[in-house]
Amino acid sequence: MRNLPLIFIILLIAFGCKPTSDKSYNTDIDSNITINQQEKINDFAIIIHGGAGTILKENMSDEKEVAYSAKLEEAVKVGHTILKNGGTSQEAVMKTIQVMEESPLFNAGKGAVFTNEGTNELDASFMDGKTLNAGAVAGVTNVKSPIELAIKIMTDSEHVMLSGKGASIFAEEKGLEIVDPSYFYTEKRFKSLQRIIEREKTELDHNDKTAAFYDADIKNAKFGTVGCVALDKNGNIAAGTSTGGMTNKRWGRIGDAPIIGSGTYANNKTCGVSSTGWGEYFIRNQVAYDISAQMEYKNISLKEATKNVIQHKLTALGGTGGVVALDKNGNMSFEFNTAGMYRASMDEKGNLVIKIYKE
Ligand code: ASP
Repeated sequence: MRNLPLIFIILLIAFGCKPTSDKSYNTDIDSNITINQQEKINDFAIIIHGGAGTILKENMSDEKEVAYSAKLEEAVKVGHTILKNGGTSQEAVMKTIQVMEESPLFNAGKGAVFTNEGTNELDASFMDGKTLNAGAVAGVTNVKSPIELAIKIMTDSEHVMLSGKGASIFAEEKGLEIVDPSYFYTEKRFKSLQRIIEREKTELDHNDKTAAFYDADIKNAKFGTVGCVALDKNGNIAAGTSTGGMTNKRWGRIGDAPIIGSGTYANNKTCGVSSTGWGEYFIRNQVAYDISAQMEYKNISLKEATKNVIQHKLTALGGTGGVVALDKNGNMSFEFNTAGMYRASMDEKGNLVIKIYKE
């Protein structure tokens, strides 16, 4: 009986600390995430982008619109077929992105924008939401499929990110297709570079140069990074992004696309994200990871998280661009603060969405 007060205190602590509802704060991150459960709406799904920017209907010819839509459809269907047949989200993301890397329409692989020196330096990244394993490559000049190289870095090396010459040597050693750098050349992109360089020389005083370097890129829509997020039948999310970066980049500039957490992120417990836009702002905001983190820690939906990050945080800092994102239940979100974003998605029933402009 002498222990009665002690027993009372122990009971008080035990029951006093018991959560009163499911929504109580819980330091165990995993069980916190389960609070965020919504209904599974798609067993498998895929969402892609082909870049965001000043994409306006009045500047777009019918042929161009048809060409972009057709390529987006082709790409998203390649991934969808893989997922439908029980393939992995990793394979779906890689093959889908490769369709866009091989198309001169997009700023990735063939058709990549030019650096100030007139070269093409390619960046890509990939993340596996099951293992949180990731691979990335920056500034590679002769590997046909940068997304394939990013995946190889993840699967066949002990590193997450390789760059430049070393990345090419690794790619060669692993038997990836090596091309002459001229493979990436397109006249359209080369002319864009010339126009920007000309404008820099003639119109701008020294102080305005940095701002104008980006300004010209944005206003003239030198965008076209490609990205894909997929959820497979095993509940595994994968995300990937591939780009040539921004026109007229110099000094070995690297954008967000190969930065895990900025350009790409995937976590089976939350979502997968691929970004496109003004890379510096996406790095400073850790856009892709922030969306996942907001779902994880704030227990909010994918839609709310993408909106918070793009429409509020990114916009407040002055950044422009967007994301495609897909959560563990197959919810999908396109979110951007630019005039347009080339984008498409397909759900488990085969419903296809293809869009270019703001609705
Ligand atoms: N985010 C890319 C970069 O900054 C460009 C883009 O998405 O178009 O390199």
